[in-house]
Order: sequence, then C-alpha cells, then structure tokens
Amino acid sequence: MSEAQAETHQFQTEAKQLLQLMIHSLYSNREIFLRELISNASDAIDKLRFKAIEDGELIADDPDYRIDITFDKDAKTLSIADNGIGMSREEVIDHLGTIAKSGTAEFLSQLSGDQAKDTQLIGQFGVGFYSAFMVADEVEVRTRGAGLSTDAGVLWRSKGEDAYELEGIDELPRGTSVILHLKEEALEFAEDFRLRNIVRKYSDHIGVPVRMIKSDYDQAGEGDEDAEKVVSSEPEFEAVNSAQALWTRSRSEVGDDEYKEFYKSVSHDFDDPMSWSHNKVEGKLEYTSLLYIPKRAPFDLYQREVPRGLKLYVQRVFIMDDAEQFLPLYLRFMKGVVDSNDLPLNVSREILQQDERVTSIRNALTKRVLTMMDTMAKKEPEDYQALWDEFGEVLKEGAGEDFANREALAKLLRFASTKGDSNTKSVSLETYLERKVEAQDKIYYICAETFETASRSPHLEIFKDRNVEVLVMFDRIDEWLMSMLTEYDGTQFVDVMRGDVTLPGESKNDEENAAGDEKKEDDHPLVERIQGVLTEKVEGVRTSKRLTQSPACLVLAEDAMGAQMRRIMEQSGQAMPEAKPYFEFNPDHPLLSRLDSEPDEDRFAELVEILFDQASLAEGGSLQDPAQYVDRLNRLLLELLDR
Ligand code: ADP
Ligand code: MG
Repeated sequence: MSEAQAETHQFQTEAKQLLQLMIHSLYSNREIFLRELISNASDAIDKLRFKAIEDGELIADDPDYRIDITFDKDAKTLSIADNGIGMSREEVIDHLGTIAKSGTAEFLSQLSGDQAKDTQLIGQFGVGFYSAFMVADEVEVRTRGAGLSTDAGVLWRSKGEDAYELEGIDELPRGTSVILHLKEEALEFAEDFRLRNIVRKYSDHIGVPVRMIKSDYDQAGEGDEDAEKVVSSEPEFEAVNSAQALWTRSRSEVGDDEYKEFYKSVSHDFDDPMSWSHNKVEGKLEYTSLLYIPKRAPFDLYQREVPRGLKLYVQRVFIMDDAEQFLPLYLRFMKGVVDSNDLPLNVSREILQQDERVTSIRNALTKRVLTMMDTMAKKEPEDYQALWDEFGEVLKEGAGEDFANREALAKLLRFASTKGDSNTKSVSLETYLERKVEAQDKIYYICAETFETASRSPHLEIFKDRNVEVLVMFDRIDEWLMSMLTEYDGTQFVDVMRGDVTLPGESKNDEENAAGDEKKEDDHPLVERIQGVLTEKVEGVRTSKRLTQSPACLVLAEDAMGAQMRRIMEQSGQAMPEAKPYFEFNPDHPLLSRLDSEPDEDRFAELVEILFDQASLAEGGSLQDPAQYVDRLNRLLLELLDR
C-alpha cells in the first residue's frame, strides 16, 4: 500500500474507553508516558535483536540499536524514534487499534470514575501506548517492519477520539517513530532539561542507548554566515541513560530507586514493589535473576488464560516475555527477569517445558521467593501481613500442591482464629502451637462461608468454653487446602465440624471411657425417637460433646465432602451424591428435656424437624424446604399467642 488515500478506522470499543480515560481522567504523574514509549521502543529493539540472531541481513544496513528523542518547541512536537522491529500494516491495526489483553472489558467495568482509585487500577492494568494521549492531542506513528520493502511504511494518526487514520508512506527507515503533538499544557515535555531528567529517572536501566541531541550543540539560526554548513551537518546525539541492563550490574552499584524504576518498567505498575531480590548464580548453572513482589495483586490474577511469568534473557539477549516455566503457577504474581548463560538463544516455550536446566532454575527461584517471604515475615511482619492479605489465597494453592515446599509454605500461612480480635488472617501455625492449652496435641479448625458464620457456629461452643483456640477459615480454597494438609510440624489438623472430636486432655484412655459413656448416653431415650423422625435426613443421631448452649448441630462424617466444597461443586454444575450428616443434640438443653416429655408424636416430630432445620441454618447452610420451616415455626408461634 503506497501513496494511497488515508483510510479511517474505528478503535475497538475497549480501546475507545481506555483512550477516554487517558484523555479526560488521568492527570497525575503524566510524565510516565515517556517511560511507556521508551519501553515499547526498547521492546521493539529486543525483538529485532533476537530475530537477527537467525537472520543477520535484517540489521545489516543499520546495526547500531538506539532510541532517539527529539523535540521542537516551536512546532510543539516530541518524537521518540527507534530502529527496532517496526510494524506491518496489519500489526499496526492489531496493536494500536485494539487491546488484546483478555479481561479488558471486565477491567474497564470496574473503573469507578474516582480518579485516585482509577489511577491505582489502571496502574495494575498497564497504561502502555495510549498514555501518549495524556500529553498529546494528536499522535502520529510512522513505522516500517524490519525486512519489509521500503514502500511498506505505514503512517498511523489519531486525535485519540473514536478513530485513527492509516496511510501508506515510502522511504521510511526501519523501525518506529512516535510523534506527539503536545497539548498546550504539556509543553514542559519539549524542554531539554526536563526530558533528560525523565529519561534518567525511568529509563536509565534500558539496555539500549536513549539519545538526545547534545545540549551544547550550536543550533545556529538563520542569517548565520555559515548557515549552509550548519544545516548540512548532522546533529550530534549523545546517550542520556547508562544503557546497561540493570540486572547485569552488581548489587552494590544499584540504588533502591533504580530497582524501583526497573520494577515499574517490567511490571507497568504505578506503585513501588513490596520487595525484591537480585542474585547472580555461578557454578553448574549460571544465571542472574531479579525478582519482585508487587504490592498489589493484578486485576486478572484469577483469569486462567492470562500470560504471566518472568522476562527471559539468554546472555543478555531478550528471548521472551511471560516465560511461565521459571516459577510455579502459585507464584504467578511475581515480576522480574531471569538471564541465563546456559540456555541456547533459540529456545522455544516447548523446549523450556522439558529442559532440565529450566527445572533446576525454577526450583531454585521458588525457594528464593519463599525465603524472601519468610525473611519478611520475621523482619517486617507488617509488610508480610499486607502481602498475605493480597496474595494469601494464591499462596494457599502452593501449600496444597507444591509437595516439595510444603513445609516452607505452611510456615507462611496465616489464618483468622477464635483468639484473633477480628477477621484478620494473622495467626501463623507457629503462633497457634505456641499458645495451645495444656495437653492439646491437635490443631483445630473450622471452615465456613464467612467469618461470622464460622465464628458463631455451635460447633465452637465447647472449644470456647475450654479456651481452646480454633482457626477460622472462610476462603473458598480452604476446604481443599485442608484436604491436602494433614499436619504441621508433627501436629494433626482436626476439623471441629467432623466426626467425633477429641478434646485436649482426653487421652486415648479417656476416649475409650468417653466412648463407653457415649454408649451409655446414647441409650438416651431421645436418640431412638429422633432417629425415627429424621431417618431420611441423617446418617445417625447421637448426644453431643460439642454443645454447651445450642440445642443441636449437624456433624459431617470423617470422610464426607465439606459444605463449602460441595457448594463450589454444585455452583459449577456438578451433581453431588447426597451425604447425610449426623444429628447431635445437647441433652442438657431445656428444649431437649421438654421434648423428652412430649407425649404427642406428631408434635414431637414437628419440633425435631425445626431443630434440624435450625442446626442447618446455624452453620450457614440453606434449607431444602424453607417454606415448610416457616410454616412450622408460625404454627408454633400461633399456639404460643393463643395460650
Ligand atoms: P504493551 O507494551 O504492554 O504490549 P502497549 O500499549 O505499550 O502495550 O503497546 C501495544 C503494542 O504496540 C506493543 O505490544 C507492540 O506490539 C506495539 N508497539 C508499540 N510501540 C511499538 C514500537 N515502538 N515498535 C514496534 N511495536 C510497537
Ligand atoms: Mg508497552
């Protein structure tokens, strides 16, 4: 396409929405548009450098990679030009007219219109190319793909409203120039000093020279006698950044601010990272890693198809983004870079999946991250608490599935508990064990939909009475996690809602006694009578050791699926086989004594049904026939009132 008429194209809906936001809502920290454009230029150079390993012809005419920034204060323009991989016409449409990220629509629907909040959110999303419209009222992109013929140039132009124009142009050099027509109130970005500062601040670590025209370059004006000579001389560029990839420098040379800026450029996050770890490994395998823990979870943490992972370099050559093979899935929120000296430059994702070296690096990096977190938990417990609040649920996936690191992960777990003062998940298993009561040799826990349901459950009565701490779990993943974890540091986990709980101080012997007692107690005349009423609904009926205040509760068999997991399965459309609970009653409760003396069998049955439904409600369950329950209760109320 060459010398054709300009064609007008509409932006994709999501792209339009994002542009609206850039133009109208985001004003703070506008200078980051330059970081985004330089980062795109640097990515484009990285991609070409990689391609040129196979095909040197691509760069033969211009082998020195660079990013040049120029401005013209009078014309109010700023340009960022790279000699990277460039784009074909189709690529321009795909990359600059649409947003391909999955979950974008959902993300946009979360925006509130509140600036501070939205800026936060969009930071997690990554602003990218469109941030140019924070400072420009018109943007032009001139680009030609490396290896394409000289007439394959494309001009993209937009005012950032609904549409952009495309035109074919000849005689473009390889790569991309982005030309910003600056808004009146953004003319500071046509100042030499200001631009140099921004480049140093955000892009110092970029492994390519970012160049500007020498400040003392004498821009001799018109009327100069030597005008002819000056015009013909090429402007002299100098690198503004240090142009050395940050992770290749030694730790002692890199300042905290530089680490933070580098993080922002790899993560597109607005915020500083929570923490980082930079390591050079030598020996059988040689590699450098720079790993960051973000402060906030990305908006798409739970979307399956989202690509994630580290940036992979081999011998300082960029190979790919989102190399997910270097960390397990449960550490998918980590950001950073791994640079290997051993892998071949032509590695593909397929090779990465099978390569033993990759497996060793992954194991080492996983340990490194877990150690980082452990150290943080010990030295900066408040920071660690913030990390746990943000990423705890994902780390639980690890505690369940990463057998090799289970111990390290179990140490990192934090739970709410009956001894905590609120629903903050802040009790470690270590803390729990430190404050167990005398003769306690189990870790007790309860799972429910919410903290409130769990902490008021009748199952906890005896534990509260005896001052025994119970961990309170209410994340969706908890029941699954507890089905994978059986013990911590040699101490067994016990679900207080299941089976026959053994309380602290009850030794094996006592248990036998208790069993003996129970046998005696289970001769309780009510057992058989209640059983007669609930036959269809329960596995069995027995007197309870758990209850001190409530009249009754439902208990799961030791091996039955928990209520939470059952709900999740049912919500996902899977039919679950019926699992009947045990009905446990508190023989000392006045209601039960009254029941015992109820001669009318019909009335007895009504009351037992009500107790059963109440027990189900008390633990957050739903009733099979709520209308019937209401009916029964109302009949009782009427009787009361009629008396
Ligand atoms: P991201 O960099 O996160 O992919 P951007 O919005 O910054 O998102 O850029 C969108 C896409 O446009 C890039 O992925 C790239 O394919 C293309 N692009 C942007 N700038 C350039 C450039 N200077 N050279 C080549 N391609 C570019
Ligand atoms: Mg980008």
